[in-house]
Amino acid sequence: MEPKYDFERKYRDVILQCSRCGFCQAVCPIYGVTLRPSYNARGKMLLLKEVMDGKIPLNDELIETLFQCTTCASCEKNCPSGVSVPEIIKLVRKDMVNIGSCHPAFKGMNEVLLKSTNIYAEDEPADFGRERNRKADYVFFIGCVGSYREDESTTATLELLDRLKVDYTLIDEVCCSGVLEDVGYRINEDLVRKNLESITATGAKTVITGCPYCYRTFKNRPQYQELEKSGIRVVHVSQFLKDFDLGVSTDKKVTYHDPCDLGRHCGIYEEPRETIRKIAPNFVEMPHNRVDALCCGAGGGVRGAFPKNSLAMARRRLEDAEAVSAEVILTECNSCVHNLANAKLRKQKFKIYNTTQFINELMEEKECGND
Ligand code: SF4
Ligand code: SF4
Repeated sequence: MEPKYDFERKYRDVILQCSRCGFCQAVCPIYGVTLRPSYNARGKMLLLKEVMDGKIPLNDELIETLFQCTTCASCEKNCPSGVSVPEIIKLVRKDMVNIGSCHPAFKGMNEVLLKSTNIYAEDEPADFGRERNRKADYVFFIGCVGSYREDESTTATLELLDRLKVDYTLIDEVCCSGVLEDVGYRINEDLVRKNLESITATGAKTVITGCPYCYRTFKNRPQYQELEKSGIRVVHVSQFLKDFDLGVSTDKKVTYHDPCDLGRHCGIYEEPRETIRKIAPNFVEMPHNRVDALCCGAGGGVRGAFPKNSLAMARRRLEDAEAVSAEVILTECNSCVHNLANAKLRKQKFKIYNTTQFINELMEEKECGND
């Protein structure tokens, strides 16, 4: 039978490699909060096999199952057969969009980015009181969540860069638009072009991203390859910070949440920990860490489309932090901070910060103490 969809053409053999062992079930955050076997990777691969065999149609009835995936890659990293589930899901979503079967929240994201320069369709980002688009050694690229939802954390990050005397500039940034590829659409070339032009105009040789997703997009998407070709390095702020002597520390019990985009997707596990260990001798790992870290539930468009389950996933992560009696959860992603902070446990005793915000606070306290 001639394949009907792109996902079959590209991934038929990979989908058939799924041995149905079920190792993915224990690690899938969606399964963890729904306990529905059809939602984990095995269930999804079985459904796709049925579609390929012509037994069930690809249509609106599969939206709930196939769009409910944070693309966290926990299944892929634990799969003995090497089934690349997030990539398969992304292509299936494209096929579904092509036949008009799409979750309205995902469709909305694409529509917003056709008209607006940010995912929230807001007119102006917070004014961070910094000069933009000037010549500098570094560009600091904030990302949509940091610009429009977690501006307090972004202000603290910028203050930290100032304290460390980094010669950076902000730019009139627009959404990197990588997320569109996760929700069934194509990256927005106009937005890509605007970012590339703004970055190169500064003469900077390094882009520091505050957002792991923007980092991933700049590093891996062909549309942004021009950066590398022009000799412009892209680093996440956690990589940038690890060599600084910060001169502050805390006695608090601190733990670290690995964002999926930084950890499982980019392999960046140790740099954030190097910095945290320097400032927090009472650092403790959560039961699920590094490649086994629980997803915060925000990714892959799930926060917008399935908010209840998204927050339930965040709560599971917070329970992990509670299990080690952490007083502070640090992470490296505004989206994780946003979702974890919104989830809140009853009688929660810890605070959630971006690492940069926490370090800046320690520096501020030290300066005040020295006055
Ligand atoms: S771990 Fe891999 S092979 Fe096993 S059921 Fe899940 S997707 Fe299939
Ligand atoms: S990528 Fe994450 S959410 Fe999606 S099926 Fe795999 S484990 Fe579940």
